Amino acid sequence: MRKSKRKTRKKQHPRWLYPVLFGILTVLVAILIWPSDSQYDVNKDIQSDVPVYEDIQVAPSQVDVDEPKVIPAPMVTTRSTPSSTKPVEQRVYQYDALRTHGIALVIDDVGYDLPALRRVLALSIPVAISIIPDTPHAKEAAEMAHKAGQIVMLHMPMEPENPHYRERMDDSFLRGDMSEDTVKKMLLHGLGKVPYVRGMNNHMGSFLTSMPEPMAWVMQFCRDHQLFFVDSKTSPKSVASDIAASFGLTWGSRRIFLDNSVKEDDIKQAWLSAERCAKRQGGCIVIGHPHPETLNFLEQQMTHVKPKMMRVVTDLLHVPQG
Ligand SMILES: [Zn+2]
Repeated sequence: MRKSKRKTRKKQHPRWLYPVLFGILTVLVAILIWPSDSQYDVNKDIQSDVPVYEDIQVAPSQVDVDEPKVIPAPMVTTRSTPSSTKPVEQRVYQYDALRTHGIALVIDDVGYDLPALRRVLALSIPVAISIIPDTPHAKEAAEMAHKAGQIVMLHMPMEPENPHYRERMDDSFLRGDMSEDTVKKMLLHGLGKVPYVRGMNNHMGSFLTSMPEPMAWVMQFCRDHQLFFVDSKTSPKSVASDIAASFGLTWGSRRIFLDNSVKEDDIKQAWLSAERCAKRQGGCIVIGHPHPETLNFLEQQMTHVKPKMMRVVTDLLHVPQG
């Protein structure tokens, strides 16, 4: 009698009840531990104005907070070409917690205008000079920057997403439909055009930097040539930083574009954002361009800015440990 009674009682709880309860519990726990927006205040400072040079597609809320942490290597499965379908290596690197503060300025799109570069170098602050390889004065610009004691970077053109910028693409751009061999040959060509290169960042690239496989080839190349990588972060979908980390590179990510808009007030606001961002652990990588307006601003600013705020870009990069 008792046995049959117990059986009847058990049947009162339908089987679907437990998975449903488990599901509800999981959702509640996820809501409780999910970080609130208030932890990402600095992102309010990232501009979303219409860009002047770069195909920037960064929505303020989507910019990552790249605190150093253990970063798992991503698998490359989204696209394959006959030349390579192998996954990115699966080693996991530990990154040092950055304790440095300050602003590291990178000037992009160098190689066209040497008088503008002279003005940048005359600022006498640490500034990384990022040179587009197939520009008329790439070599000379690199020599000038190196002689002035500044870091030289390769500003590698990469395929943008915005149709307006896609129209401007020439043969110097890395494109998403290229093979591994072609990508690496073009990078090598770039290095041949720009001497003294210590690191690389992307020129445009909102399309290509969202593609894990070509980004893996780029990072392999950087590792083979002992270059650091700075993600210009022209797209919130960029995987460049993650893949650079998975390859054990020294890497960083752009936080502020100084001159998305070259109106004086907008540049001022961008600089104020950079100053706020600079107080955070890890500091703030700022990208500007050799526009006359940007140079006017920097010349004024650097006469009364606390120079101690300015850092060499390599001081603000994540460095793999061990
Ligand atoms: Zn650029």
